[in-house]
Order: sequence, then structure tokens, then C-alpha cells
Amino acid sequence: MTHPVNPPARLLMGPGPVNADPRVLRALSTPLVGQYDPVMTGYMNETMALYREVFATTNEATLLVDGTSRAGIEAALVSLVRPGERVLVPVFGRFGHLLAEIALRAQAEVHTIEVPWGQVFPASVVEEAIVRVRPHLLAMVQGDTSTTMLQPLDELGAICAKHGVLFYTDATASLGGNPFEMDAWGLDAATAGLQKCLSGPSGSAPISLSDKAVEVIRGRRRIEAGIREESDEDTGEPVHSNYFDLGMILDYWGPRRLNHHTEATSMLYAARECARIIVDEGRQAVIDRHERAGRAMLAGVRGLGLGVFGDVAHKMNNVVAVEIPDGVDGDAVRGALLQDFGIEIGTSFGPLHGRVWRIGTMGANARLDTVLSTLAALEQVLRRAGARVPHGGGVDAAYSGWSAA
Ligand SMILES: *Cc1c(COP(=O)(O)O)cnc(C)c1O
Repeated sequence: MTHPVNPPARLLMGPGPVNADPRVLRALSTPLVGQYDPVMTGYMNETMALYREVFATTNEATLLVDGTSRAGIEAALVSLVRPGERVLVPVFGRFGHLLAEIALRAQAEVHTIEVPWGQVFPASVVEEAIVRVRPHLLAMVQGDTSTTMLQPLDELGAICAKHGVLFYTDATASLGGNPFEMDAWGLDAATAGLQKCLSGPSGSAPISLSDKAVEVIRGRRRIEAGIREESDEDTGEPVHSNYFDLGMILDYWGPRRLNHHTEATSMLYAARECARIIVDEGRQAVIDRHERAGRAMLAGVRGLGLGVFGDVAHKMNNVVAVEIPDGVDGDAVRGALLQDFGIEIGTSFGPLHGRVWRIGTMGANARLDTVLSTLAALEQVLRRAGARVPHGGGVDAAYSGWSAA
């Protein structure tokens, strides 16, 4: 005998997923309609318009890929890059390695450059690599939750345009909580997910494509019903994926409404509501709220006497990597936070494994009360674990951080 799912109340203060906004949960539980019902196609068009606001773009080709964030990444890379084309991936954390791996699976000739974890790339270093590698595409993460760093992208679009390079970013962790300007920064493709600053569940990947990116995708050889279409030009290889062929996905979302997959209706409702929440509150106001909550959390962990990993000047607003004090068992502290307080914080990967916890303040959880509760609980758990932490030091400092202009 099983019972209906009835999960315990949790406060998700890790690097994602975070608690969904109740508005999103309500949207998820609304009735289904057919995929060509004018109500549904109307929702699809509204979702496109809403995500144009979220991405700060006029790109017609702004839609959802069904799947988690990496579905968006895979769709972008497999559709934009032909086998053998060069892709440059500057890697500053785990998700940079993921971009390189997915580009490799798309049979690109992948070139990487790296900085140590906790740092970002100066634009000049990226430009030098572009001049040396002469890639078709620059693929770069904006905010890498594995290191908490936010790569400045604002100068890279002009550099890519100057050298005739397409510019793609994975903005999954950063979009909504940090500055992001698709058009002003000259991006050709950007992808995201819902479970970070957009306050939704994972399972839908918003994507936006510039006209130039759409032209590249339209240049791929088409396959329909398993038959290769003859083409006047040599358009090279077709996209080596049906599900992630953005040309076909664009035809489904565009005026032709050619059947591809069946749009994940409930996830579309959720994604639409995530964007509506941001547009209602105001795109800049949401970023400001993340900045404020991030500042309060940073001040709070420092107020507990804990160290912070990485170049804090380039930290994302929505996540901080907190050094585990000597002699403290990091997993035991996380376990006690979850068990005794119902609060989840994150572990870390690779070179940071066992060295830092990652604490997020994102989406619906970027608030003063969540920051204070997390710090108050962390103080108690750390003291019980034998660490010397100042009484009320985290909460006091977070109050000050929240109020500092
Ligand atoms: C969290 C995160 C993802 C997550 O991908 P999923 O497929 O949704 O698990 C991808 N990229 C970055 C930069 C992230 O921070």
C-alpha cells in the first residue's frame, strides 16, 4: 500500500532547486487542453512574449524546450553547431565542463580555456582565445553555481560580432536574479531553466535565439518524416537529434504549427506563471531583491565568522559558497539542518567537495525571513557540532546587510 505523495515542508536554501512560488504550483494543477486548442496556442504565444521580457529581447524565436535546463543547452548546441565546427568554451566551473561535453557529443571540435575555480575571465582573455581558435561559436556559462561566480558577458557580444562568432550562454542559474541583457549584450542564444531564480520546478527550458542564430539553424539540412529533403545549397549535416532539432521546434511554436512533440502542457503553465511573476514584480525589482537577499546572506555568514570562497566581487547574487570550519563535518551539519529545521543547503563538487557549503537565496526564497531563519538555524547546528560561533552574529549582520543601501 502506498499513499499519495505528501512531502514534508522544506525550506530549500541550496543552489537549486528552490521552493516553487505557490502561484506556479496552482498553475501546475489547472486542467489540460489539447495541443492545438486555440486556448493552448494562445498560451504558447503569451509565453513567448513573456520570456522576451525576461530575456530582455525582441527575438521572435523565444520559446520553451521541454526538459530540464540541459535540454535547452543540448538543443542550442546540437542545432547551432555542425559536426567538425569549432566551439570555444571558457570553463570556470562544473557547468562549463558540461557545455564542452555536450558540444563534443554534437561532434564539434571543442577548444577550452580555464581559470581556477572562484574566478571569472577578463574579456581580453576570451578575445585572445577567439583570435587563436577562430571558433564558429563561443559557448559560455553566465552564472556557474558550482563556484558561485557570475561571468561578465556585457563586452563579449561585441567581440564575437567583430570576429564573426556566434555567442551562446547558459543562464540557467543567473537569469532573473542577476543583470541579463540578451539584445544589449549581443547574445545569439541563451537558455535557462525554472528551478533557480524563476521560482518554478525543473522541467522546462526557456530559450531565446537571435535572427542570426535562427538563420544558422534554418541552414541545416531538413529531414521530414525520415526523408532527407533535396536542397539547392550544400547545407551539410542535418541536426543529429529529432527531439532537440530547434528548426522543427521553431516550426511547432511558429505560425505553421507543424507537429513535433506534444508540448508539455502543465510545464508550459508553470513556465508561463514563472515569467508572469517576474513581469508583475518588475524585472529590475526582482534582480534588486536577489541582490539584497544575497547581500544579507553574505553578511550573515561572515557575521558567524565563516569564510566565503571565491572572488566575491564576481559572486552571483543568488548563491554563496561558505567555507566549512576546520573540524566540522559538513555533511553532518547539512543533515542536522534538514532533520531538525527542515532547511536544505547544498554540498559542492570537484575541487570544492567537502570544503564549502553552497547556500542559495533565489526566486521565491530571496527574502529576509528565509535568510534569517537559515542563519539562526546554522548558528545552532554549528555550535552543537563544536564550532565557536558568535551568538546572534549571523542574524545581526544579515539585518544590517539587508538594510544597507
Ligand atoms: C543548475 C544549473 C543547470 C541545471 O541543469 P538541469 O538540467 O536543469 O539540472 C544547468 N546549468 C547551470 C549553469 C546551472 O547552474
